Amino acid sequence: MEFEPVIGLEVHAQLKTNTKIFCSCSTKFGADPNTHVCPVCLGMPGVLPVLNKTVVEYAMRMALATDCTIAHQSRFARKNYFYPDLPKGYQISQYELPIAEHGHVNITMEDGTKKRIGITRIHMEEDAGKLIHDPTRPVSRVDFNRTGTPLIEIVSEPDIRSPEEAGAYLRQVRSILRYLGISDGNMEEGSFRCDANVSIRPRGTEPFGTRAELKNLNSFKYVESAIAYEIKRQKMVIGDGGDVVQETRLWDSAGNRSISMRGKEEAHDYRYFPDPDLVPLVIDDEWIESVRKRLPELPEARKARFLDEYALPEYDADILTSAKELADYFEDCAKEVENPKIVSNWVMGTLLGLLNAEGKSIEESPVSPAQLAELLILIETSVISGKIAKTVFDEMVKSGKAAKAIVEEKGLVQVTDESAIEAVVDQVIDANPAEVEKFKAGNAKLMGFFVGQVMRETKGKANPQIVNKLLKKKLG
Ligand SMILES: [Zn+2]
Repeated sequence: MEFEPVIGLEVHAQLKTNTKIFCSCSTKFGADPNTHVCPVCLGMPGVLPVLNKTVVEYAMRMALATDCTIAHQSRFARKNYFYPDLPKGYQISQYELPIAEHGHVNITMEDGTKKRIGITRIHMEEDAGKLIHDPTRPVSRVDFNRTGTPLIEIVSEPDIRSPEEAGAYLRQVRSILRYLGISDGNMEEGSFRCDANVSIRPRGTEPFGTRAELKNLNSFKYVESAIAYEIKRQKMVIGDGGDVVQETRLWDSAGNRSISMRGKEEAHDYRYFPDPDLVPLVIDDEWIESVRKRLPELPEARKARFLDEYALPEYDADILTSAKELADYFEDCAKEVENPKIVSNWVMGTLLGLLNAEGKSIEESPVSPAQLAELLILIETSVISGKIAKTVFDEMVKSGKAAKAIVEEKGLVQVTDESAIEAVVDQVIDANPAEVEKFKAGNAKLMGFFVGQVMRETKGKANPQIVNKLLKKKLG
């Protein structure tokens, strides 16, 4: 029997507000343990939470960016459970009345196929504290600085059908969060976390199979490997005549496998009830419209504009708009240079190649958009060849000097003087009579040899178009 995976993702994104969701404690990362705490986030008796308006606005931004319907009235609920990092004994979340529902995110796969993934709901909640286990001693400590940090949970419909689609969806969600400026979306640092619900069913059938929930997926790579592993595992269980059990499984990245953690709890295990300390949240149309008006350009719209305004291939537009900072870099550079495609080639090829090799982000680029533009203009105006430009670029990275200065200093200006190039062409032809004969006998591939010889003689400075033209004329 052929099986089809059914995958739904729950993303927790930490919001970049200055203060916590229900108190005025700082959310700044990296402070000494238990210094950003107060009676409210420590869960002392008799205190009252006060909702942070910025958290609501950030949640509204994400809701609008994913085409969700924002509820005019939503409510906070208590999710009851005990854990040492949760001093109140309950987490304030939203349950039956979330702030937003029924949206979607469009994804594009590497082969260009597009797909729409539904968003079931977005809700706001508070984060718990952090347990620190000391491997050298039999103790664990708890840091409550993170307690009460605002999160939004974005729950997808079970529309995802492969590990690759899950990866594409997560990247798109993270990109939207970053464009909106509401979350760092940093998976490694835990500000963007993902749980995956995975089940399989015979292809062509409707009812869902029993699902397992995968937790602890703290990199894009792990999400994809864990889902692929889970699909395989469930196929084997069913293939052996067994039943998949509903459970929570932890991804063990070192062992490249998942381990059963516990039976999956149902919503009723949490005894949700409306939080009596918080009034229902009322959002009117005017507020929604004012947030909508302030939305920045989002990845999809920006991609469409890149296709239109710069006439870039879809592949280029996809990569360049995948992160706001990268798109900004491209545009800052492209406004100086005539041909956007040359900018795109250099940013995606040479620059990203260098940054990836050094593990740097685009914000840490050693070459600014203006500096790269200066180099590309030198190519466009035929002052240097594309090949020489690579040497100049390397030197810019090494020395931090400007392109023009390097070209002048090293005497790299391209030779476009036809008579000067012609002299070299003649010299190369005279020096290689055997190759000339073979070329004339029909070995067209030798053209590359002659071009290479001329470029070598001119130390790469001869204008390649002129070299080609002259060689063709003389050998043809
Ligand atoms: Zn506090």
